[in-house]
Amino acid sequence: MYSLDTLSEINFELSSHCNSKCPQCPRYDIYGHVHKDLNVTNLSLEIIKKLPLKKLKNLTGVSFVGNFGDPLMHPELDEIINFFKEQKIRISTNASLRNKSWWSDLGKNKNIKVIFCIDGIGKEHELYRRNTSYKKIVENAKSFIQSGGIAEWQFIVFQHNEHQLNEAKELSTQLGFKDIKFMYSDRFDTDDTWKVYDNNKYLYDLKKPSKQITLRKSLNTPVGEKYWNSLHRNKGEISCFWSESKKIYIHSDGTVYPCCMLGSIQSGKNIEKLMLKKIIKDYKEIDLHYNTFEQIIMSDILQKTLPETFKSSSSHPICIEWCNKNSGKYSKKHLNTVNI
Ligand code: SF4
Ligand code: SF4
Repeated sequence: MYSLDTLSEINFELSSHCNSKCPQCPRYDIYGHVHKDLNVTNLSLEIIKKLPLKKLKNLTGVSFVGNFGDPLMHPELDEIINFFKEQKIRISTNASLRNKSWWSDLGKNKNIKVIFCIDGIGKEHELYRRNTSYKKIVENAKSFIQSGGIAEWQFIVFQHNEHQLNEAKELSTQLGFKDIKFMYSDRFDTDDTWKVYDNNKYLYDLKKPSKQITLRKSLNTPVGEKYWNSLHRNKGEISCFWSESKKIYIHSDGTVYPCCMLGSIQSGKNIEKLMLKKIIKDYKEIDLHYNTFEQIIMSDILQKTLPETFKSSSSHPICIEWCNKNSGKYSKKHLNTVNI
């Protein structure tokens, strides 16, 4: 159950703006347009400053990750970082923004770890992180690391970059990254190929890597069919992973969700959105523009209504997809882990 005392981490989507055009990012539709129903905005600094840090006695970490945007797009990021002096800050970014001097200053903060999303070396990287510059990212990473910053490299493996894993591992050590983590995309949900478009124009195919066993395959779902039916058939009890880990998510529009997965249905997912509306009823109830953080944490929605759905036949499809103990994505996390 949620309480201010026990909360250990807040995950923020600081911004739903982004400079990049990653083909499988939920901010875009399949033809490469920003979803029409995406509220493109920055989380207000005023809202962040009203968080009751003194009462959040166990809040040891905050992460700036997000579903639809990059935290470095937030114009007041430096003030936000200053606000969380007592917490460990984890920033996940495409890192192709800001200049070397900004990165060098950022590296002097001892409470910050940056996850650099670099999906390949050279032009291979830019096939997924479209619109970013590999050269600039490496320069930024060097500036950050040289001034003392703790950096981790996150590498999503596709067919076009799978030959670079060993090279990337060596390069990460040379550049001074503390770690490099390889992972598979979980978004090949109907096919092993993803057609990349930009404003309706077909560009190329993105392909799953040769060794990846997708969730769809592990559930024996035929090509072209969503894995949802198989996942639902095999579902087990729901165990709310985020509330057990004492984590919560704040969306860039100021709404508070129990996890980033439920926050991710605010754009491009009409059915899931409607089903969440049935549970929440009035989004104002979870909106920091209308309530304090404490009021939302202690609201019936988080304390009662949502937890009750876990045990009933009206569980939200996202909760089944992620947190059912038999076939949920958390129970199959190993499918996305790559060991080299
Ligand atoms: S960098 Fe992140 S937010 Fe931006 S398009 Fe890529 S996945 Fe989406
Ligand atoms: S998807 Fe549902 S069950 Fe899973 S962490 Fe989020 S709220 Fe909890």
